[in-house]
Amino acid sequence: MAYADAGWRVPELLDRLVAADDLYFDAVSEVRLDSWSRGRVALLGDAASCVSLFGDGSSLAMAGASTLAAALAADPSHAFAAYESTHRKLVAPKQRRVGRAAGLLVPKTRLGLATRDLAARSVSAFRQRAA
Ligand SMILES: Cc1cc2nc3c(=O)[nH]c(=O)nc-3n(C[C@H](O)[C@H](O)[C@H](O)COP(=O)(O)OP(=O)(O)OC[C@H]3O[C@@H](n4cnc5c(N)ncnc54)[C@H](O)[C@@H]3O)c2cc1C
Repeated sequence: MAYADAGWRVPELLDRLVAADDLYFDAVSEVRLDSWSRGRVALLGDAASCVSLFGDGSSLAMAGASTLAAALAADPSHAFAAYESTHRKLVAPKQRRVGRAAGLLVPKTRLGLATRDLAARSVSAFRQRAA
């Protein structure tokens, strides 16, 4: 098996993987849309601007809802455009940061993987020493 010699608790994890009858496996994806509304329908939260697993998704979803509510109260006929223009200013820099963080967490090259693993082990060793 490709990971049989990976060390740590990997052999145990592999055994459990083979024995499990309820294995869950999923991809982490992000959709970026040019527009968050069409006609009378507008998207909010992750459906409009997911920043994935790196935090902030919940607070951005609530901030977006608040912005949309304020825009609807101010001028329903231009609310979606106003909401999108305001909320994109908050979301866009965070989405750019997610792109960079994803490159570090899920690298595409062997060198990137080795660097990430070394960094993770160093942080873990540092924390154990500090505890
Ligand atoms: C593993 C993981 C860890 C995370 N950690 C953090 C964190 O630490 N901090 C943070 O801020 N964010 C975090 N997030 C992101 C955060 O959970 C989301 O950004 C946030 O929940 C988005 O809110 P939302 O209302 O847009 O969508 P959701 O919370 O996904 O709500 C959408 C709802 O719509 C329902 N739904 C879907 N389809 C239909 C349908 N056809 N009909 C009716 N209902 C439907 C779903 O069941 C769901 O209840 C994490 C996400 C994941 C997956």
